[in-house]
Amino acid sequence: MISFEKAQSIVQSSCNLMDTEEVELHQLLGRVLAQEVVSDMNMPPFDKSAVDGYACRRSDIADLLEVVEVVAAGQVPRHEVGEHQCTKIMTGAMMPKGADCVLMVEDTAQVDCLHIRYKKETVKNNICILGEDMKAEQVAITAGVAIQPQHIAVLAALGYTKALVYRKPKVAILSTGDELVEPSEKPQQGQIRNSNGHQLVAQVLRAGGIPFYMGIVEDTERATYTAIRKAIDESDILLLTGGVSMGDYDFVPSVLIRCGVDLLFDSVAVQPGKPTTFGKTDGGKLVFGLPGNPVSSFTQFELLVRPAMDAMMGEKPKEMFKKMRLGADYRRKNTERLAFVPVIISSDGEASPTEYHGSAHIFSLPSAQGLLAVPLGVAELKKGDEVDVRPI
Ligand code: AMP
Ligand code: MG
Repeated sequence: MISFEKAQSIVQSSCNLMDTEEVELHQLLGRVLAQEVVSDMNMPPFDKSAVDGYACRRSDIADLLEVVEVVAAGQVPRHEVGEHQCTKIMTGAMMPKGADCVLMVEDTAQVDCLHIRYKKETVKNNICILGEDMKAEQVAITAGVAIQPQHIAVLAALGYTKALVYRKPKVAILSTGDELVEPSEKPQQGQIRNSNGHQLVAQVLRAGGIPFYMGIVEDTERATYTAIRKAIDESDILLLTGGVSMGDYDFVPSVLIRCGVDLLFDSVAVQPGKPTTFGKTDGGKLVFGLPGNPVSSFTQFELLVRPAMDAMMGEKPKEMFKKMRLGADYRRKNTERLAFVPVIISSDGEASPTEYHGSAHIFSLPSAQGLLAVPLGVAELKKGDEVDVRPI
């Protein structure tokens, strides 16, 4: 059995970067940039008015001002503003030469059809200066950033109609177990519905991958072998659930070896998820044998698979845990493994364990927003303690 940290580092060092592809602006949300985004221009590209008002000389604001021109956004001013003159200007319009401030229209009074007067004594510049937000040739977004709508605005402003991103990994999902039936079926005696496979589809989607759902595999060596071969051929990552424990029908690790997978670990000091198995093919494909119990499968996906997918998609490493305060005392007997416990996170950031009966208890997870890490050797945590929580 290896430590969780060791398992994490083995998985991380087994990850290869995906190839890149060019993707259209509207399809870029959530994708990880494989290039720098460089500004092709100064932003703003000209001195522009920040308000609707009158552009004039600061030294003239106490005087009657003659309006020499009206400039709308998108127009180029034709007149220079001279002494005791002003240009009526709209927000975003180009500043006329000669003016060094803009009087807000609300703070002015129309004297006659050609003249205005400022009603206040001081004025801010109210000008957005050429290049103050971004300079030409400057890097606006670095590679490794997962694109959010805010990044799309920057890309659009800088003239990018597409960008180079890492390909999404295709993730095959196989659920092993003779007891399993699909959600559309009513389980007969001894059967349960396959929840892992569908949970994993959603987890893969949330992590930015392409799920390839391959259904249920019966607990025979032959069926397991055939399914694993096909899954490895057709995906970048294979996720299996079940069949990795010590039961008579747990064939996954031995079949993986027969399929040429180099098994790098098959037992991790973590709870839930001890029998988590991991290996790599010659071709660099990753294979995770996740435990059958759905909370274990969920947890190990979040802790091991998701960071691996992030690394393959070139995303900059993120903090694994957030520091939080524990909202209630926590106690456990067995301290041999690093435990992960579903927690509810309150609006003031306190994490409190949910009702949790163990790794089959899927009903504990929907109300949880995090997994509390209880370190190896620790039997007790007190309300108010600073703890590590993995948001889910
Ligand atoms: P196993 O790791 O195959 O021994 O399975 C451990 C436990 O998880 C057993 O109680 C299984 O019935 C259950 N289990 C396995 N696969 C699934 C699945 N896909 N969905 C829900 N429960 C499962
Ligand atoms: Mg099984």
